[in-house]
Order: sequence, then C-alpha cells, then structure tokens
Amino acid sequence: SLAVRDVHLAFGAHRVLRGADLDVARGATACVIGPSGSGKSTLLRTINRLIEPDRGDVLLDGRSVLADDPDALRQRIGMVFQQFNLFPHLTVLRNITLALRRLKKLPEEEAVRLAREQLDLVGLAGRADSRPAQLSGGQQQRVAIARALALRPEVMLFDEATSALDPELVKGVLAVMADLASAGMTMVVVTHEMGFAREVADTVAFMDRGVVLEAGEPAAVFEDPRHDRLRRFLSQVL
Ligand code: ATP
Ligand code: MG
Repeated sequence: SLAVRDVHLAFGAHRVLRGADLDVARGATACVIGPSGSGKSTLLRTINRLIEPDRGDVLLDGRSVLADDPDALRQRIGMVFQQFNLFPHLTVLRNITLALRRLKKLPEEEAVRLAREQLDLVGLAGRADSRPAQLSGGQQQRVAIARALALRPEVMLFDEATSALDPELVKGVLAVMADLASAGMTMVVVTHEMGFAREVADTVAFMDRGVVLEAGEPAAVFEDPRHDRLRRFLSQVL
C-alpha cells in the first residue's frame, strides 16, 4: 500500500502542500482531481521524490521512501507525464531498453525481450523500430507507459497522461490504464477525465489548496460531496 502522511511543501513563501494525506491500498487505483494549482502534480512528485517534502512522510508498504536511494525508488514507482518525454533520436524499442540497461543493468537481450513484451501489452508490437515522431500522440504516450512498466514498478503515477492528446486518441490511452488497474497495479492518477475516475477508481481524492479535502469511493464523491468547494468544482467539470 501507498500512504502519504501530512506532507507539507513550500516554494519560498508559497505553501503548495499544506498537510496532504492519501491512502492507496495495494492493487487499488486512486484518482486525484481538483482545480489548477491545487498541488496535484506537486503531490505526485513528492511521492517518487522528484521533490522532497519539507515535512511529512510517504510510506510504501509501511516503510518510508524518504530514506531510499532515489534511483532505486524510481524503479519501484513509475511515473507518466502529460508530455511523454521520449528521446526523439531513439527508436521506440531503444527508448524502453535504455532505462532497463542503465537502471536495472540488464544485458541487451533480456532488455529487448522485456521491452517487446511491454510494447505488445500496450498494442504497439509492430512499432518497435519507429521513432517517436512517426507515432501519434496516443501511441507515444503508450510507449511512455510501456517504458515505465518495463521496470516492473510496484506503483504507477500518472500526471494528466491524456491532457495533451487529441480527443480521438484519449480513449486508447485510458483503455491501457484501465487494463493496468484491473490487472492489479497500484496507481495514483491525476486526471480531468471524470468518466475514468468514476469507472476505474477505487478512491477519488479531491485536492484543494494543498490538501486532500475529501476522499472516498467515486459514487460518494460524485453523487454526495460533503464540501462546498468540491460541489462547486464538480458543477464546473461534470
Ligand atoms: P494543474 O491542474 O494546473 O496541473 P496542479 O494541481 O498540478 O495544477 P501544481 O503543479 O502542483 O498544481 O502547482 C501548485 C502550485 O505550486 C502552483 O501555484 C504552482 O505555480 C506552484 N509550483 C509548482 N512547482 C513549482 C516550482 N518548482 N517552483 C515554484 N512554484 C511552483
Ligand atoms: Mg498538474
């Protein structure tokens, strides 16, 4: 399980996280929703230690990740961003094997085997030798997901993974994410896709001004919100 405990973070005088808490059971999916600037991306970045919180803790299976070596942690916690961050000069296959060779020190053949297996899972077995620019945005995002999955993470973080995509490409990426959720991956998904949150999430967490103001099952959060702020947010996005 993943637990975020009372995490605080300020950029100068700007307190971006002000005691954020989140619980995700092993194999569960939490969707994080909330207004722009509420700290959703910052929360994800503290979970895999792209930034260090000023206070509070992040626990993976009960153990703080804050003492772990960041490189080791990024193998346990994969992250997918809005911008896919693929290397443009490398083939799809190389984009995936690079991390396996560098981080996991795998021999070439083993890395290629794992990369092909992941490409197959995201429906891109035939595109191993393409360059990112030859793929659609949706296909590039699926490569980025395959690259993260190839490291066999225990947790996957998604930060608006479909926000940069043309509308007709969103579905394919959400389908890959939904498959991953039903396969038992532990996931934290920051998203504006309320349909996905409603259907796939075990927990929906609403962030507002640096805290998780309300969290619960999708039906409770969407049909019966307790806080005014959440009610107003939902009336704007639904
Ligand atoms: P969005 O929905 O627009 O992606 P968000 O909820 O992900 O918003 P964050 O990106 O976490 O919000 O940002 C929260 C606040 O922290 C914003 O006001 C942002 O300007 C500020 N912020 C984020 N990163 C930094 C940084 N590295 N330095 C200074 N301020 C930052
Ligand atoms: Mg963000």
